Amino acid sequence: MATCSRRNLFKLAGAGSLALLLPVGTRLGSAFAQEQLDPNDAQAKALGYVHDTTTVDEGKWASHSADQNCANCQLKQGGDGEWIGCAIFPGKLVNRNGWCSAWVQAQG
Ligand code: SF4
Repeated sequence: MATCSRRNLFKLAGAGSLALLLPVGTRLGSAFAQEQLDPNDAQAKALGYVHDTTTVDEGKWASHSADQNCANCQLKQGGDGEWIGCAIFPGKLVNRNGWCSAWVQAQG
């Protein structure tokens, strides 16, 4: 009986520890959440960033071609969804079909 009580005590302690950790993990997750880059952000505008590479002002950005996008840029950082990280815009997500004038062909 004493062994059983001790075992139950350890189970309760373990469950309690997990319950305490869950909210912390949730908070950490939201702290690292990134938001989508606003094309009207000052740095984004300066670099001509757009969410859709087909909407680039070709007159203003002569180096642009329609096959250039964030998904095939050397400066992208992780992510394989619609929104990915970018070394130029830390803490923000860019659209994989987006483009800015810092575009560099990905190697490999
Ligand atoms: S540097 Fe590359 S990945 Fe980042 S916004 Fe510009 S084109 Fe997209």
